[in-house]
Amino acid sequence: MKAIATVPVHNPATGAVLTHVPSASLEEVDAAIGRAATAFPAWRAVAPGDRARLLRRFADLVDAHAEELALLEVTNAGHVIGNARWEAGNVRDVIEYYAASPERHFGLQIPVAGGIDVTFHEPLGVVGIIVPWNFPMAIAGWGFAPALAAGNTVVLKPAELTPLSALRIGELAVEAGIPPDVFQVISGKGSVVGWRFVTHPAVRKVCFTGSTEVGKGIMAGCAEQVKRVTLELGGKSANVVFADADIELAAARAPYGVFDNAGQDCCARSRILVERSAYDQFMALLEPAVRGVVVGDPLDERTEMGPLISPSHLEEVSSFVPDDAPVAFRGEAPAGPGNWFAPTVLAPVERSARAVTEEIFGPVVVVVPFEDEAEAVAIANDSIYGLSGSIWSQNVGRALRVARAIDSGNLSVNSHSSVRYWSPFGGFKQSGIGRELGPDALGAFSDVKNVFISTEE
Ligand code: NAP
Ligand code: MG
Repeated sequence: MKAIATVPVHNPATGAVLTHVPSASLEEVDAAIGRAATAFPAWRAVAPGDRARLLRRFADLVDAHAEELALLEVTNAGHVIGNARWEAGNVRDVIEYYAASPERHFGLQIPVAGGIDVTFHEPLGVVGIIVPWNFPMAIAGWGFAPALAAGNTVVLKPAELTPLSALRIGELAVEAGIPPDVFQVISGKGSVVGWRFVTHPAVRKVCFTGSTEVGKGIMAGCAEQVKRVTLELGGKSANVVFADADIELAAARAPYGVFDNAGQDCCARSRILVERSAYDQFMALLEPAVRGVVVGDPLDERTEMGPLISPSHLEEVSSFVPDDAPVAFRGEAPAGPGNWFAPTVLAPVERSARAVTEEIFGPVVVVVPFEDEAEAVAIANDSIYGLSGSIWSQNVGRALRVARAIDSGNLSVNSHSSVRYWSPFGGFKQSGIGRELGPDALGAFSDVKNVFISTEE
């Protein structure tokens, strides 16, 4: 028998090797896709109530193993334990939310002469889901839960750096009674496993979350077969603070809008825009807030920020803060092993500087002043991205006007929260195509079929 190729998986807080996981070959991926295609007809034929029951059982098992899954995310992704527990709960909630949909995925009945006209939401077939390393289990769930609920079979590739939680969730699905070929988690390289999802004709949809660069290649590759694609890509979101905001609150919360998950969040509010008349006050309040961010051991319940994912990502983030960078102030980070980077505030910065225009995906934020509402909107929209953003103002009319004017998919007012499993999530512009979560996601995993039945014959 051929030996299975394996690769090591690390703890980013210590650099230690945690375990080794299989790295699938092209032949192994093709075999998995073949099994998923074979399993599709029976899975789509499972009665809606039975599919719902299997998904509810799956959600219950995720709940029963929530602490174990959270600990995998702490040790393999460096997430702080509080966040990791929320993420395990999010996987459970997303499965439970879509478990309610098999019996409710309604079509339409459209008035016509000479018969009736009805629509069906048909599943697509095999769906390929490609997951990044920054929120390994949550983002996996946003893909597989609605895909399975809509009647598709799923092949899912976790990021090479962070496969452990998704592999465990795949085992829990089988334990819940979901047939093993209906939901397969395949660890391996993006260029091998992920790219095969794009090129294999039996995979009818690719759901990709990751960098804009790779996403563009996925979209181009899918065009070859007019393959459906959902893309959740990068961001450079603005946190817009007006002088009429509660400045103390806005400054206290700003670090958590960007440094959460060590800034490795596509929704990170990595540009803070502050109305000039409040700028000095805001910066004076921001400094102690940034210095107060607790960085360290992700297992310690008091820790608010952990390490970066890998030595090479640490190097990439560091390149945005060279020795002559305009550092206004920084927080603390542990020394020693692990990929540590202290929360860093850059100001004043040129509007054309790399740190202002490019996604950093680390704990680095720029602060830019603006004169009035129109300029705030113009700066916020001066980006190829449009994923997220926040507006701080006590003037409800202004807050709503600015929320409507910013070209982003997810905005929050006097808050930095972006994600609720029952509301849509996704990007404008080069931040992506399509929506996950909420009521829209089922539509992304099915096609509409129209059937006319004559009553005249
Ligand atoms: P990435 O390099 O684009 O990788 C994402 C996933 O794609 C990984 O599983 C990767 O596999 C796979 N992949 C890489 N090359 C591929 C190829 N040629 N064909 C098919 N699959 C391929 O991104 P990342 O470095 O993991 O994550 C960071 C980026 O993701 C950031 O830019 C961030 O903004 C974005 N992101 C966006 C969202 C969102 O919801 N909008 C969420 C999270 C992250 P390997 O692990 O083997 O490389
Ligand atoms: Mg990458």
